[in-house]
Amino acid sequence: ARKPLMAGNWKMNKLPSEAADFFPEFLELSKWQKEQVDVVFAVPATHLDRLLDIGEESGISFAPQNVHWESAGAFTGEISIPMIQDLGLNYALVGHSERRQYFAETDETVANKVGTLLSAKMTPIICVGETQVERESDKTVEVITRQIKSFASKLTGGDFVVAYEPVWAIGTGLTASQEQAQDVHALIRRLLKEEIGEQADTVRILYGGSAKPANISGLLAQDDIDGALVGGASLKPADFAAMVQAA
Ligand code: 13P
Repeated sequence: ARKPLMAGNWKMNKLPSEAADFFPEFLELSKWQKEQVDVVFAVPATHLDRLLDIGEESGISFAPQNVHWESAGAFTGEISIPMIQDLGLNYALVGHSERRQYFAETDETVANKVGTLLSAKMTPIICVGETQVERESDKTVEVITRQIKSFASKLTGGDFVVAYEPVWAIGTGLTASQEQAQDVHALIRRLLKEEIGEQADTVRILYGGSAKPANISGLLAQDDIDGALVGGASLKPADFAAMVQAA
């Protein structure tokens, strides 16, 4: 059985000085059992250093929301994987649809990041998902297949996580139905199996897109849904605590 992974994505929210306040309340309300569920928060890079002690004490993993694939150099504004590793961190979010939409991230740059993270023995959380136009024109399978295959050649060992985030469900209040989500998760696992064989059965595939306390249990009950990547609801300790409890 795969250990569930509940991940929060704070996006560009909260100030560094506010970030730590979240966790005592979250930990108390969630009664989180770290042996049963992994918990990761992808936070703004300015917050990471301040959260190291909380991570150490609680077992929560903190992650950047983006990294560069080169380890150093003339890339103004970017953050390298060695910088993240130097903080002792293990996970990084890669290829979020907002990065693809607003910051010109492509399948190719996502694949480069996946490759460098795996070479560094870190765990990428790789986001894929179709837009509303793509779903309405029956392109979901094609888009997901293209996105998964784009980084498949980089999967030469090491742990990674895939997050299925239908773009039309992000921040819109529209959630994919349990069946819609499970169908795509099963497709992702089949595609991974073609690439890496039986190891695909150990890969955690998260659902993201308006996941909240009210819909999380039904999503997590699906065979191929192993956790969630949560935006808005991860900003509220009580909401995210309830979701971790459901996992
Ligand atoms: P929401 O949960 O706010 O829809 O955001 C989902 C998401 O993009 C997480 O990465």
